[in-house]
Amino acid sequence: MPERKPYISGNWKMFKTAAEAGDFVVALSAAIGPEADRAVDVGLCASFTSLATLVAATQGTGIRVSAQNMHQADEGAFTGEVSARMLAEVGVNGVVLGHSERRQLFGETDAALKEKVPVALEHGFEPILCVGETEEEREAGDTERRLRAQVQEDLASVREDRLADVVIAYEPIWAIGTGKVATPDEAQEAVSFVRALVADRSPTAADEVRILYGGSVKPENAAEILGQADVDGALVGGASLHPDDLAAIVAAAAG
Ligand code: PEP
Repeated sequence: MPERKPYISGNWKMFKTAAEAGDFVVALSAAIGPEADRAVDVGLCASFTSLATLVAATQGTGIRVSAQNMHQADEGAFTGEVSARMLAEVGVNGVVLGHSERRQLFGETDAALKEKVPVALEHGFEPILCVGETEEEREAGDTERRLRAQVQEDLASVREDRLADVVIAYEPIWAIGTGKVATPDEAQEAVSFVRALVADRSPTAADEVRILYGGSVKPENAAEILGQADVDGALVGGASLHPDDLAAIVAAAAG
């Protein structure tokens, strides 16, 4: 079975100006040390206005930079949107797609994600595809049905040989920004189910694809969640706003 390198990425949501982002990188890289000594991939997902600063500030640190959304078209009459070509020019490594805040507050659909994920891959980005159920869906016993619908549709246009280039983040919506965290068993069960869904397309890709957990991960709970067999890392919102907290989560991922 291939080794999956742990991956910790901060998702800043709509926090931090470009100047604040630059200062953060200085503090974070001092706290996590040089890339050569690191057994964990580290990333930051930031607002469009901070990306150029982040790309410059992270040179030589190995810290990956991702946008938080992207339109599927190369260009067009889509006021307020940003294309993959535009992100490529800035030099980002990846893009978060389908975050629950975009799905719930801004009408992101699985139909659009089905187009966005392959476009991101074609432009050389690492898509971080977020999937997850609401509290009502979990209570109704609908978690697997919801995850199956999202994973199958969002990845439907990705070729089998590219599936492992996608990073999937299992983010139960009831745990995002709420302080409620999935138990390690709940995280493992859902993440292994997502891996099984990838295996339905390609068993090889399922062994290789990195699947992260996201939802109120903090320095205090990170080690237990990251210790689960199928959990390959974390997408971290609130705690990623503080370089020392993010560094502590990176240390937990290193084991
Ligand atoms: C997120 O924004 O993806 C997230 C997981 O947020 P938080 O860690 O604050 O729950």
